[in-house]
Amino acid sequence: MHCPRPPGSLHRMAEMATPPRVLFGIVVGGPLAGNHALTARGGGFDTPPRRIPPGPATEESPNMLGLMQDHPLLISSLLDFAARHHGDAEIVSRRVEGDMHRYCYRDATSRARRAASALDRLGLEFSDRVATLAWNGYRHFELYFAVTGSGRVVHTINPRLAPDQIAWIANHAEDRVLAFDMTFLPIVKAIWPHCKTVKAWVALCEADALPADAGIPNLVSYEALIGAESDAYDWPRFDENSAAALCYTSGTTGNPKGVLYSHRSTVLHAYGAALPDVLGMSARESVLPVVPMFHVNAWGIPYSAAMTGTKLVFPGAALDGKSVYELIESERVTMAAGVPTVWLGLLNHMSQHGLRFSTLERTVIGGSACPPAMIRAFKDQYGVTVLHAWGMTEMSPLGTLCKLKLKQLELPPEAQMAVLAKQGRVVYGVEMKIVGPDGDELPWDGKTSGDLYVKGPWILSSYFKGEGGDPLRDGWFPTGDVATIDADGFMQITDRSKDVIKSGGEWISSIDIENIAMAHPAVAMAACVALPHPKWDERPLLVVVRKPGVDVSRDEILAFYEGKVAKWQIPDDVVFVESIPLGATGKMQKVKLREQFKDHRLPGM
Ligand code: AMP
Repeated sequence: MHCPRPPGSLHRMAEMATPPRVLFGIVVGGPLAGNHALTARGGGFDTPPRRIPPGPATEESPNMLGLMQDHPLLISSLLDFAARHHGDAEIVSRRVEGDMHRYCYRDATSRARRAASALDRLGLEFSDRVATLAWNGYRHFELYFAVTGSGRVVHTINPRLAPDQIAWIANHAEDRVLAFDMTFLPIVKAIWPHCKTVKAWVALCEADALPADAGIPNLVSYEALIGAESDAYDWPRFDENSAAALCYTSGTTGNPKGVLYSHRSTVLHAYGAALPDVLGMSARESVLPVVPMFHVNAWGIPYSAAMTGTKLVFPGAALDGKSVYELIESERVTMAAGVPTVWLGLLNHMSQHGLRFSTLERTVIGGSACPPAMIRAFKDQYGVTVLHAWGMTEMSPLGTLCKLKLKQLELPPEAQMAVLAKQGRVVYGVEMKIVGPDGDELPWDGKTSGDLYVKGPWILSSYFKGEGGDPLRDGWFPTGDVATIDADGFMQITDRSKDVIKSGGEWISSIDIENIAMAHPAVAMAACVALPHPKWDERPLLVVVRKPGVDVSRDEILAFYEGKVAKWQIPDDVVFVESIPLGATGKMQKVKLREQFKDHRLPGM
């Protein structure tokens, strides 16, 4: 084993620079450390910090420090743990080449060390960004650990963005290396002349699969790159607050903004995500993250999986219902995770072909609201429990997940369903509150809705390069979502604040209206958007995609709302479309829909 080559001095700098952080209410570290000016909070979440002196006990300062070892929480430790204790647990990938690839954590660790060594050889400095444009697969998994473990920052780029947006993001992040699946070669051909900081382009393929005539300078195959290295690589040790991963928000307005995760935030999030009432990751599970590794770290699953020795199944580029179903069956998947649109495809495929699951027990659905009809279909038709989850790029991403509490197990099925449709309870580590227009905290009664604010050690404090100024209000991050919280702490998103429909001084939840439409047997997908109205300010328009081969009229859909919501909340009109525009992360693009139907005349106008 050899010591890591560079970036020794930079590592030391990172060890020395200790930004302040809050541990159980005590602000430690930072520029004030050492001058007896550290602070701690009094009672209550919002009371101002109370001053207590730092350091070991002295006569003037009687506080005692714990006598435990000080180990930085580093991502490399997750993979080392997996290799040591779950070395033969499998990682299975459907490759973009079309075949299946199987290996285990021991192999992944060896290859990640080679990749880390290759990054040293490329001359990358500490904190340099290494971008990926890649599907979920074993090479991408290796980069998650090689890049971060060697002290660089893995910057996952969403390949569904337009090439000019990708180039903009790569330039903004100042990526030094960009690794890509061969599927994305056309994107790389289009962007390389515009990416000024990228010094090497790494194709995630065998050396002989590298196209000779690609015309991309400094193009190298990943296998050739790591094949030249030894796996005798020692992960460097540095400050746990060092940057580890970078992910840009979808940026529906303005330019995308970067969220920069640290080693500490990532490892803490991995602990939180693995908890039984969250993802419940363990060495007895086979987990299929359909949620892409280019979108918020695949909800942290790669890290939690390494922490727990979970078998991982990567779907590659094949996200259609048939491929996902076959993978679930062949790899005996017990838990899957993804956005609702992916599961629509899976459920359609299964009902068309009369299929059943033999091993799948639960599926985590988040990213946008999961319609209750989908939760029911999974449970009633296939015996699969849906775990509704909510989070954001800014939150690493997990905030809440919906699992019943002990006392709710006795409830009748309909009452349980009402709870399970919510986005759920916070993971330990996240604090949340809802506030009214004046910033006052609102009650947790399950009825009052307000702006949802969060804080915690895996929630951002500032966007990359300070873009957009200070995003926090009194230390809380305003999520932009509107929600209720009930007395048991179950949070329910009623809307994105910009999607709420304001009608006659009252609010209509577009998600509620969509959920009802989604329960209609003829509806494949539904979006509810506000249209301007001279009398009521705004009124709801429902945009519907019918299921294939099924007919349904506007009046039938509107009649379906009778008795389910107040009359004034029923949409004024329904329009049928072939498809609803989806964004790069699978969310319905309501901005586009509002634009598309801005001249639509509602009845009576
Ligand atoms: P992103 O940062 O792209 O992951 O988007 C985060 C946003 O997605 C959240 O602020 C919510 O508006 C939305 N979102 C995520 N999960 C859910 C969910 N389960 N229900 C409703 N909205 C969700």
